[in-house]
Amino acid sequence: MTLPMVQFEQVGKLYGSHRVLDDLSFSVSAGEKLALIGASGSGKTTILRILMTLETIQEGAIAINGRPLANSAIAALNHRKQAAHLHEIRRDIGMVFQHFNLFPHMTVFRNIMLAPMLTQKVTESDAKATAMALLEMVGLQNKASAYPAELSGGQKQRVAIARALALKPKVMLFDEVTSALDPELVEEVLNVLRKLAVETDMTMLLVTHEMSFARDFADRVLFLDGGRIVEEGPPEEIFRNPKQDRTKVFLKKIVAAGLSI
Ligand code: ADP
Repeated sequence: MTLPMVQFEQVGKLYGSHRVLDDLSFSVSAGEKLALIGASGSGKTTILRILMTLETIQEGAIAINGRPLANSAIAALNHRKQAAHLHEIRRDIGMVFQHFNLFPHMTVFRNIMLAPMLTQKVTESDAKATAMALLEMVGLQNKASAYPAELSGGQKQRVAIARALALKPKVMLFDEVTSALDPELVEEVLNVLRKLAVETDMTMLLVTHEMSFARDFADRVLFLDGGRIVEEGPPEEIFRNPKQDRTKVFLKKIVAAGLSI
């Protein structure tokens, strides 16, 4: 039996007394592309932030490729041991945020090369070769020596994607990566993600409000409401034939807002 790449088991997350994730269980197979959809506040970003070890959980357990990322035993470790453990697990996970967070004083090339050289002891020439291949993949090989301020939002986000990929994570997380972009720049970023989904066997979790893109990209869709999974299934089923009333209402609102499905 192969282990799931990502496994949530009865996860509960609270901010004070405010429950954000509620008895949440799901798993993602190696190579699977999963889209998380749901209204604002339903817990989608929190799931990604927990996987990035930016947030802790209060209940349940999470494992990455069979290795624990969060559970009560890890929570009980002393600070130093816990930090060392999380650092180790974090190496398998990369994330692209809504805002690109590129280093403004570094060229595109340096932005991509920096983390592998600093954190994985990759040599400069290997880091360069990887950065060049990734820039080609995102269609920006001619921007290697540009600075972020010289790029459009879409180009910056494509660099941010290349930068996350340079660390060769097993799991990539994408959080609303087009929502800070002008509408005319959205498609170029989605095209890169489409290509990635087809060409790599990386496991990917994607939070998006672009339903038609979720349909192209994802093998499976989870619809969340109030920190719980209301419905899950292949995109065709969720979008064309939702079974739960809450999913139907959510999709109707999307259509009413003029966003296509
Ligand atoms: P989504 O990504 O689906 O919009 P989020 O995961 O961002 O939802 O948020 C889920 C809930 O958690 C929301 O009610 C939000 O207000 C709350 N929340 C998120 N971050 C914090 C925080 N740092 N402190 C308190 N509440 C938070």
